[in-house]
Amino acid sequence: MQRLDGKTALITGASAGIGKETAIALAREGCRVILAGRRKDRLAETGKKIKEMYDRDYYMLALDIRDKNAVNEAFSRLPQEWQDIDILISNAGMARGVNKMQDADPDDWDEMIDTNIKGLLYVTHAVLPGMVKRNKGDIVHLGSIAGHEVYPGGNIYCATKHAVHAIEKGLRIDLADTPIRVSSVDPGMVETEFSEVRLGDKEKARAVYAGMTPLNGKDIAETIVFIVTRPAHVQIAEVVIFPTDQASAMVTHRRN
Ligand code: NAP
Repeated sequence: MQRLDGKTALITGASAGIGKETAIALAREGCRVILAGRRKDRLAETGKKIKEMYDRDYYMLALDIRDKNAVNEAFSRLPQEWQDIDILISNAGMARGVNKMQDADPDDWDEMIDTNIKGLLYVTHAVLPGMVKRNKGDIVHLGSIAGHEVYPGGNIYCATKHAVHAIEKGLRIDLADTPIRVSSVDPGMVETEFSEVRLGDKEKARAVYAGMTPLNGKDIAETIVFIVTRPAHVQIAEVVIFPTDQASAMVTHRRN
């Protein structure tokens, strides 16, 4: 097992859900953390918690990953002591809507594609040259079961997560002659703000998890800690993780 003491981790989407719990778990393991996301107040909450619980340093990177110039500028302005990023958790992502393609709003497609694919690429492109130069690093993508299966109402979101999968595989090939590891964590249902963002309604979001026990952000955070603490010769490519009540994107056991 590798220790993480003093390593610098960047977590996108650290203002909520899986990203927030991952930032906290990596801080517990000894990392200093860069917290990225749009909502500065929520990043500050995560940072405060990390400081109080583990007394680790944190740096807030308030940015919209869809904005290529903003991403490049934010990274070019990182203080010297935060520039050597050891661990990149590309977690920020979202879904919008569950309409059939014929009924969907193309603006929703733009938002998902711009965030889940292009935003992930912009951040990777900003961080990767430093990792290659230093000849070390870990990259973990938040994929999804939506990158393995396609389900009703999932069309473009599933397409973005299939793309994340292809990017992860391509990146592993590009980095095969380096010690840099590339991994993907692909969850089924995790109760976070995800469904509220997707459906635009708290009640509808709650109904997604009715009668079953979903995963939570901590479950995914601990999986990520496992991945980045493996010995240097071990590269976990992909982890598909379901709640026990879920068997596939289409099959969920509900008790009522
Ligand atoms: P969440 O609670 O809604 O958190 C999403 C995070 O992404 C937030 O911190 C949000 O921060 C950030 N984000 C979204 N758009 C952004 C943008 N344009 N720029 C910067 N940050 C942005 O959802 P979650 O469940 O934790 O989702 C995390 C990842 O897990 C996503 O990639 C999602 O696709 C994946 N996933 C989730 C589930 C699930 O069931 N929940 C299942 C499989 C995979 P701001 O709003 O502050 O910017």
